[in-house]
Amino acid sequence: MTHLSSLIDQAATACAQAKRGVALTGAGISVESGIPPFRGKGGLWEKIDPMKYAHIDALEADPEEVWRMLFMGIGELLRHAAPNAGHTGLRRLEELGLLQTVITQNVDGLHQKAGSQDVIEFHGSHAVLRCMRCPQRYDWQAVPLTMIPPLCACGAYLRPDVIMFGEPIDVGLLQRSQMLAAQCEVMLVVGTSATVQPAAYLPVIAKRNGACIIEINPEPTELTHHISDITLLGPAGKVMDELVARVAKLR
Ligand code: NAD
Ligand code: ZN
Repeated sequence: MTHLSSLIDQAATACAQAKRGVALTGAGISVESGIPPFRGKGGLWEKIDPMKYAHIDALEADPEEVWRMLFMGIGELLRHAAPNAGHTGLRRLEELGLLQTVITQNVDGLHQKAGSQDVIEFHGSHAVLRCMRCPQRYDWQAVPLTMIPPLCACGAYLRPDVIMFGEPIDVGLLQRSQMLAAQCEVMLVVGTSATVQPAAYLPVIAKRNGACIIEINPEPTELTHHISDITLLGPAGKVMDELVARVAKLR
């Protein structure tokens, strides 16, 4: 048995025993769905400067530029993306009664498309547009993008309902996520570089409260040596497929 295979066995045993499992996912889980991550090889940040376009100050200073350089490209990528085995594996763990909630930093909606029932969109959703002045929200699909930026009925600009750099996380979502992290027995950390706060702190909270931290990522991260109990080095879809198959056998 290879080293990875025996680690997957250990992870499967921990998952199968968990009554309250929680997953924290990041851009890496959607890479096999054709959506590039921000950091690392092939990442979006190799092409554009995050502070120039992904900061709230940039959006407020020049909404048209940010729409053209960032939002339109992401919208196009997400339009064609479908969930992969990483997303469907988490849905399967939920069906088996082993995973309570997916906390995702992604804005792509792929966990919901895969059928997961309880998804916390920590950084919001790119599929929803909200007004920069009034509380109105619209489906991205329902808004004709003939004019960039598109307009709300009130005449102000619309923007995707995502958290940009420099913006706070919704307090209710943050508190619920911290509570879930503190109460879970297993936390699966999938495809996140664990560098964006406060999401990156959730595995630390889980660990301090006695959870087993299982990390799935082709590369080691900030968590690997100090926080993770089991690190499964590999792409999310392939590893999750194997993990879920073994968990199902143990049930
Ligand atoms: P990140 O870009 O910082 O890190 C991505 C991680 O995924 C890296 O650790 C990388 O090694 C790993 N990875 C690459 N390929 C993988 C694979 N096949 N399987 C598993 N892991 C793989 O992403 P982050 O930690 O999520 O944080 C950055 C922010 O970027 C988030 O806040 C998120 O909102 C945003 N983002 C979202 C999407 C999306 O919605 N799909 C895409 C890009 C960025
Ligand atoms: Zn409005």
